[in-house]
Amino acid sequence: MEMLNLALFIVEAVAYFGLMVTLLHFRHRLGLGVFLTALGVMHFMETYLAAVFYVSLPFGDVSPGSSVFFSGKLMMILMLYLWEDAATVRQPIYGLFLGNLLTVSIAWVLQLHQPLQLASNHTPDVDFLKEMGWLMVWGTALLYVDSLGIILLYEKLGDYFRRRVVLRFMISGFVLLTFDQVGFFAALHYFLDVPIAVFWGGWKAKMLSVCLFGAMFAIYEYRIRRLGADAAARSISDVFGDLTFRERYNDLLERTGRDMLTGVYDRTRMELEAPLMLREALRQGLFATVLIIDADHFKDVNDGYGHLQGDEVLKAIAGRLGTTLRSSDRVFRFGGEEFVAVCPGTNHEEGLLLAERLRWTIATSVKTPDDRPVTVSIGVATADEDGVDFTTVLSAADRRLYAAKKSGRNCVVGHSGVVKLG
Ligand code: GH3
Ligand code: MG
Ligand code: MG
Repeated sequence: MEMLNLALFIVEAVAYFGLMVTLLHFRHRLGLGVFLTALGVMHFMETYLAAVFYVSLPFGDVSPGSSVFFSGKLMMILMLYLWEDAATVRQPIYGLFLGNLLTVSIAWVLQLHQPLQLASNHTPDVDFLKEMGWLMVWGTALLYVDSLGIILLYEKLGDYFRRRVVLRFMISGFVLLTFDQVGFFAALHYFLDVPIAVFWGGWKAKMLSVCLFGAMFAIYEYRIRRLGADAAARSISDVFGDLTFRERYNDLLERTGRDMLTGVYDRTRMELEAPLMLREALRQGLFATVLIIDADHFKDVNDGYGHLQGDEVLKAIAGRLGTTLRSSDRVFRFGGEEFVAVCPGTNHEEGLLLAERLRWTIATSVKTPDDRPVTVSIGVATADEDGVDFTTVLSAADRRLYAAKKSGRNCVVGHSGVVKLG
């Protein structure tokens, strides 16, 4: 009997791994969704089997649910990471976890029904569903830690034996499934009174599974994929970074919304961010000052030296803005030769000083090709004195810019007119 069970156990491991690797292998043709859905669908069964379905093997009582299917899933997650990347692998990890939370919530709602009794021997057992649900939440919480752990360990082992991918795969599996066995068994014991003897049986069966999976992984890597090791090792910190959504989001934001010529943020970005910056400053009880900076007689620069030289002057102006403002301030290219700076935590007086420093810096350091100074005019307005929303404050600043042009240019205008300093 035990030998038959062992044979079935091996058949299950080979079938699971073979089928899942096939789906993974053809992911570009089938779509990755096929592999991920299969992985997700089997999750409920795994947990169910791990809770109630045990068979006798030569080395103990074992649940195929946990020893074959759960272990297999963890190894699949590692393989998905190896062939895709951390950003992809976190999709099933988060998906499984959230799906399980949903299962628990649905079970909670279902129990409020008065279900019909269709056949006398089939009583719906919502309590069991809820219990299973919590076990699955715990299982996937562990899976989350296991998945991070197995990926990080696999990468770390690359420091010692870079090209021994199968060895790395197996050591990672041994270590993380041992950890998982301790964690999952604790829950089984607590929720379902599963006896201690099952711990050792389950652990040995998981180790056996890793050996089987490792052997199949080796066959696949060297016979089918013929690629061997992925030479590009990643640093641990990099993996952690990728595994959080925020990192990617910030990276994307950093790269988009930049003006090509000057490298400052563009107008679209201004429309998204500037209102938020103002609102946030006001929420914290701070002022926020907006500057509009427009180059003086810029048409003459273009006409006199050509558009390409004009572009160089614009880059120089943007450069001065970037170095003069603080890191919490933001510069946007508003139009052709107009820039907008948003400075949170800056009152009107401070804003005028800042604008004056900018004006002076540009007037003394930005030059046309024949060494004539380039100047700017600046209009300054402040939230909340000039309004609370960005559009209102910006149009106040724009009116003052116009006044600055009227007053002879190369000057700063605030709410009480042209700024005159020493
Ligand atoms: P004012 O002092 O009144 O601002 O005079 P101005 O000549 O600067 O007048 P205005 O602001 O109307 O002119 C803007 C000029 O900037 C017109 C346009 O040719 C030039 N310009 C806009 N975008 C670019 C650019 O990307 N590169 C270059 N070289 N010139 C640009
Ligand atoms: Mg101009
Ligand atoms: Mg202009």
